[in-house]
Amino acid sequence: MTQKSASVAETTAAKAAQRCILPECGAVYGIRERIYVCPKCGGPLEVDCHVSEIRDSGELRRKWESRGTSPEPRDISGVWRYRELLPFDESAAFVTLFEGNTPIYDAPRSATYCGLDALRLKHQGCNPTGSFKDTGMCVAVTQALVVGARTVVCASTGNTAASLAAYAARAGLQPAILLPRGQITAAKLAQSMDYGALVCEIDGNFDDCMRLIQELGENPSIYVANSINPFRIEGQKTVAFEMMSQCNWQVPDHVVVPGGNMGNSSALGKGFEELRALGLIDRLPKLSVIQAEGASPLARLFASLPPAKVSAEPSLPETLKFEEHPRTLATAIKIGAPVSWKKALRAVLRSGGKIISVSEQEIADAKAMIGRDGIGCEPASATTVAGIKKLVAAGHIRQGESVIAVLTGHVLKDPDYVSAYHRGTLALDGGKGAPAEPLRIAGAFRNAPQHVEPSKSAILKMLEQKR
Ligand SMILES: [Zn+2]
Repeated sequence: MTQKSASVAETTAAKAAQRCILPECGAVYGIRERIYVCPKCGGPLEVDCHVSEIRDSGELRRKWESRGTSPEPRDISGVWRYRELLPFDESAAFVTLFEGNTPIYDAPRSATYCGLDALRLKHQGCNPTGSFKDTGMCVAVTQALVVGARTVVCASTGNTAASLAAYAARAGLQPAILLPRGQITAAKLAQSMDYGALVCEIDGNFDDCMRLIQELGENPSIYVANSINPFRIEGQKTVAFEMMSQCNWQVPDHVVVPGGNMGNSSALGKGFEELRALGLIDRLPKLSVIQAEGASPLARLFASLPPAKVSAEPSLPETLKFEEHPRTLATAIKIGAPVSWKKALRAVLRSGGKIISVSEQEIADAKAMIGRDGIGCEPASATTVAGIKKLVAAGHIRQGESVIAVLTGHVLKDPDYVSAYHRGTLALDGGKGAPAEPLRIAGAFRNAPQHVEPSKSAILKMLEQKR
């Protein structure tokens, strides 16, 4: 290919760099350097694809949309379709399970529950391994191939492990995952085993696993694919591109996501900012993050900040007081020391959104309400609807505003929770740093199976009562 006909993707890849996000440092590193945090100051890194240098964004948008009907694997993938804004050249051996392409549903019952005229749910649980992690993992595992790693590792509350295991298997790399023993749902663990991962169960919590991962990453054959990895964020940012394409580039007033390790909110924030830099959208949606009360270090920090003006370079606090014993049944966000908190906080402050927390009861009831719209999700995803209800009550979201909540995981990721809620046996056990008594969660929208006589009349009577 001659210089003259080089594609936008190749131009982007050639110019892309890794950059420390802390304004007082801002150190720049090569795109193929295997680093996960800034070697100079320890700050978080992000990939800079120099999007503002892309001249014809209208042409780019037309190209992306035309790929929707193309049979080429990279065009079918809802991530690689946007490859012009990913830091790889055209010859990279991209890894895909045809991730992305997730639906946006209208959810009228959930909207009424929240006090909104309308509410839309973008369901990232419809990805190949059943969670939002796949959009980032296809990119991180591709980068692992590019840098010549043999093993890909992550610490996980379950969804990252399942995703990493599948994509590493796809790429012919050995996946290895570190899990807090006894704290992962059976479904998520089963996925990792099935994809051939080395599953290491650790006596400790997720945050202990994260510390070990950082030590393992010093080995040259091992590539770390946690959300601290800036390439994961690059894949996940494409969710913003896909969402805007599905909305015909009409920016919603609010986008609301659950908050665990904070990679998802960081990525969406970056995606929307890149679209604005390209001129494909003219404003940012207000990005809000919802945590579970028992694992809400960033919500607590946010509540303590003075009211901030929306600005491009908000001042970020130096430290976050971590939650030593995170406690929630929403295991996907049971994280007390979120690694991407600075990126997420920056994205929220730049957009004018909020970070709040919701109770176990609020999560459980919101989850059942989403179910009544015919949409299944895992408990962590339901923090969004629970949080939107609170933000509407507080006046941050107005009744007629357009709102999209991002559901992060499939309902079958945690069927035991769903069953316990509807049977009335859902409870959060005690444990380190918790009260001895379990917290019992009443199912306000319980729908337990009914024992019924095997006769038509008995069943018709039961139906009559249900109506
Ligand atoms: Zn730095």
